[in-house]
Parts: sequence; structure tokens; C-alpha cells
Amino acid sequence: MDEFQLIEHFFRQRGKGPGVLVGPGDDAAVLLPTPGQQLVMTLDTLVAGRHFPDDFSPFDIGWRSLAVNLSDLAAMGAQPRWCLLSLCMPSVDEAWLQGFCEGFYALAEQSGIVLVGGDTVRGPRGPLQISVQATGEVAAGRAMLRSGARPGDRIFIGGVPGEAALGLRAWQAGVRDGDAVQRFARPQPQLALGRKLCGMASACIDVSDGLLADLQHLLDESGGCGASLALARLPQSAIIRAEADAQVRQQAQLAGGDDYLLLFTLPPMFNPPTGCHEIGRISADPGLRVQAADGTLVDVAERGWNHFA
Ligand code: ADP
Ligand code: MG
Repeated sequence: MDEFQLIEHFFRQRGKGPGVLVGPGDDAAVLLPTPGQQLVMTLDTLVAGRHFPDDFSPFDIGWRSLAVNLSDLAAMGAQPRWCLLSLCMPSVDEAWLQGFCEGFYALAEQSGIVLVGGDTVRGPRGPLQISVQATGEVAAGRAMLRSGARPGDRIFIGGVPGEAALGLRAWQAGVRDGDAVQRFARPQPQLALGRKLCGMASACIDVSDGLLADLQHLLDESGGCGASLALARLPQSAIIRAEADAQVRQQAQLAGGDDYLLLFTLPPMFNPPTGCHEIGRISADPGLRVQAADGTLVDVAERGWNHFA
């Protein structure tokens, strides 16, 4: 297949949907936004060996390349609408593309986003690079930002942090199945939760780098207020309990990346949706403190992933 047959075969037929006037195949896509909605746009680039293991299946790579973008839309409270895909490959491997598309479109259909165009280029040998740009919509003025947290707000997490990090550890030890690996390989962006939180949450962020690192981003944007987290309040699960080393469990929960859970703050008058866990409180004094059950402060070695650190 040459580049044009490839686009025809893999992308053209499926690029139809609500608001898509012109999809893949022309010089650019033509889209019709919903009146009264604002556009929310994000882009993430994944590099093999850095953002996913070199031996990830094409299905998991396709799924993940979209999931990380959908998680950003979820954190803003946006409804996913349209996306663009840039693929840079040393050669065209049809079997690989087939698997990639199965993963990508499985999540696209589940979340209601339409792939309306992109770019497919032959690049030099080296790690595979994939960029996805996603656009969503949110009612005018309702996008959730990182910047609205205020002293007295309660801090919540939309699930159990640390599971994906334990899944990555298992993967690196050669494990290829089980719940932890599944949590790592198939992140589920919390889109429904994000939309529920719109109009309630004072601030929201998705946890991709690690709980402490991403909470710190939220604090930085919220005028430098601080937070205290209660270690005993971090939700547990069978996946977490299956790790025998308490130090590894704690590190995974506080600093492990790849969970793609929503971390958000609620002013005192709001109650959280079900499945969310209160883990701490925003304070006026700056800094991020983690308290053990006995009240002592926990020292956390690694706060999370920073590409340029
Ligand atoms: P141009 O040379 O004008 O940039 P391309 O040959 O790159 O055109 O792309 C032709 C059409 O195929 C465009 O509509 C583009 O959006 C679509 N397309 C190319 N690659 C992809 C891809 N990876 N996913 C979806 N659509 C794609
Ligand atoms: Mg092009």
C-alpha cells in the first residue's frame, strides 16, 4: 500500500460523524461547532520507549495515544468531538497499522470522538512517534481549570492511584496479563466524571505524572495555596494490596504516573460523585504536606515524572 491507499483504507471511511462536514481526504477537515459551546484543544506526543514500552502491542499504542488526550479533555470537563493523528514511521507495516487502528478506534467509538484528519509520513529509523490533537466542547464559561482551588476546599481523587505504576513494574518484570498490567496498558479517561464535575469543582487536573506532582501543578496555578494529604485516606484496592512491599505501594500511590484519574477540589458545599475519594484539604499556607496516620509528616523521595529534570 502506498500512502494514499493507506489513508483510504484505514482512515477515510471512518472519518464521518456529528459536526464533520469534510473528514479525511481533502486538504483539511471542515467542522461545525455547536452554537454556545467553547472549543477545548489539546495535543500529546508519545515516543516509544519513553511514554510506552517498546514492546507494547499496536492495539495498546493506538488506545493510549488517544486516551492521554481524552484525559486532558476530561480534566477540562469537555465533551470529545474531533481529533487529528500524526504518524511518523520508518516504513509502513500494514499489520501494525491494523492493530493500531483497532485500539485507536475502539476508544474513539467509546468516547464519541471522530478522527477527521492527520498526517502520515515516512521518517528516519528511530523510536516511533505519534501525535494526537483532540478538540472537545464545553458550555461557554464552564471549562474546569487548574487555577480555582481555595483554602478550605476538599481534595478528591476519582479512583485508586498507583495501580498503573504497579502495572508498569509488573510489565518491566515480564508480566503481560492481570489487572495491574491492564490498568497500565488500557487507561480509561474519566470523561463522564469530568462532565459531572463541571460547575462543582473549583479546580481539576488529570493525574498523568503522579499524584503529588500533579497536585503541585494545581496548587501552583491556584495562587500558591498549599495542601495536606492524609496517607491513611488514599483508597486501596486488590491491585495495591497485592504488592507486598509497603514502600513500593506508597511510592506508587503518591508518585506513580499513568493512572489518568481526575484529581479535583470541591468547595465545602458540594458532595463528590460516587467512586471519588477525599484525600486531603487545601490550606492557605503554601507547600504540600503528606501526613501519616500518626500525624507525622512523610518524606517522599520522588514526587513524579518530569521529562527535563
Ligand atoms: P497534504 O499533503 O495536503 O497534507 P496528506 O496526503 O498529508 O495531504 O493527507 C491527505 C488526507 O488524508 C488529509 O485529509 C489528511 O487529513 C488525511 N490523513 C493523512 N494521514 C492521516 C492519518 N494518520 N489519520 C487520519 N487522516 C489522515
Ligand atoms: Mg500532510
